[in-house]
Amino acid sequence: MKTTDILIIGAGASGLAAAIEAARTAPDKSVTVFEHLPKAGKKILATGNGRCNLGNLNAASHRYTNSKFAQPVIEKYGVDSLIGFFESMGLYTRADSEGRLYPMSNSAASVLDALRFECEKLGVKIICEEKAAQIKKADGGFSVNGNLQAKKVIIATGGKAAPSQGSDGSGYPLLKSLGHTLTPLAPSLVQIKTDTATIKSLKGVRAKAKLSLSTGGSSEGEILFTDYGVSGIAAMDLSRFVKQDKKAEISLDLLPDFTQDDAKEIIIRISRHNPAMPAESMLGGIIHKAIGTAAIKASLGFMPKTAGEIKPKQAAVIASTLKDFRLTVTGTKSYNDAQVTRGGADVNEFDNSTMMSRKVKNLFACGEVLDVDGACGGFNLAWAFASGRLAGKSAAED
Ligand SMILES: Cc1cc2nc3c(=O)[nH]c(=O)nc-3n(C[C@H](O)[C@H](O)[C@H](O)COP(=O)(O)OP(=O)(O)OC[C@H]3O[C@@H](n4cnc5c(N)ncnc54)[C@H](O)[C@@H]3O)c2cc1C
Repeated sequence: MKTTDILIIGAGASGLAAAIEAARTAPDKSVTVFEHLPKAGKKILATGNGRCNLGNLNAASHRYTNSKFAQPVIEKYGVDSLIGFFESMGLYTRADSEGRLYPMSNSAASVLDALRFECEKLGVKIICEEKAAQIKKADGGFSVNGNLQAKKVIIATGGKAAPSQGSDGSGYPLLKSLGHTLTPLAPSLVQIKTDTATIKSLKGVRAKAKLSLSTGGSSEGEILFTDYGVSGIAAMDLSRFVKQDKKAEISLDLLPDFTQDDAKEIIIRISRHNPAMPAESMLGGIIHKAIGTAAIKASLGFMPKTAGEIKPKQAAVIASTLKDFRLTVTGTKSYNDAQVTRGGADVNEFDNSTMMSRKVKNLFACGEVLDVDGACGGFNLAWAFASGRLAGKSAAED
């Protein structure tokens, strides 16, 4: 049987970071990575629309699911540490106006190259097309697939989101077989399906909005109306709070820059200023024309011909609709479309000062396989890199 000191299962963001940190911490120890796809880090290439939003200047104050568990890890490997980690491999970053960190090259491939070449330089052995299908405690360590004996194992298999990128959920049974508990899983950072009766005409229209979910949770930013519901960063962020088994409504504030009273006054002013103007064009100065039309129709149940026909009372109803446009949630798109998985290995069963299991000595986990997820904006990769580095360092220390 082959042997290794440290086996990392999964060559994604957290697994590669773990491998680098382990090899740097203990250069004399052998570090092996199993990756079931033909190449390491496939998902990294798809992140940030090919630009890889690898972190966020505000990650330390971000509210993750299970923030209490995640926060100390994110703080320990904070943004300066993340930037330094990549600079040590020759990869420089820059932040945009919202604190999102990208490689200066603007290319996700450069992030993967930095990680891969660093692994190579450090002598990490990445074995591709090797799926970890079985893990057993053996001889004080672990036997994996019955053909590799490892003293320590780091599970870095990701979740179930985007299975075509390798994360097919096969890490969960490994953890379960060793006695770990899983919290309920669901696609997250995913498009939201809604009743489409009132938004049929809005397919392809983008808007800036504030969103809140009747069952709790809110977000703000760009949305995109689609033929199944809503997409766009703010809708994806809101999907973190959608519970598949609970009925909910989204309230869209489509005029976040105005109060409801301001909006009413503006509508009255427009209708008085140019009463002959077609009603369907009258709100084009404050919102996308198609949204204005949909809001007027939804408010009045019909479409007046001209702006002048709209009475102040009706203006008030239209303003209220624009500030509180309701959509009934019918679900979300699937894991195939999701960026992350909500739920995962129960964090109470891991020590966040080392990422080691509290149930199985010398077993570690990091990244998305754990029940930690964040919003869009680089927070999930920040978690993957921070938790991966901590797991790698801890596993390499005796
Ligand atoms: C399209 C897309 C865009 C995204 N963009 C961003 C972004 O810009 N910023 C951001 O912060 N987050 C982004 N995310 C989320 C982010 O990519 C993930 O949260 C992060 O990659 C999780 O890292 P991980 O190492 O835990 O898992 P993964 O990156 O999923 O890596 C897991 C690896 O393990 C391998 N594996 C799984 N099971 C086994 C097994 N049994 N045996 C061997 N190998 C196995 C997989 O093939 C994979 O390579 C995006 C996600 C998607 C899908």
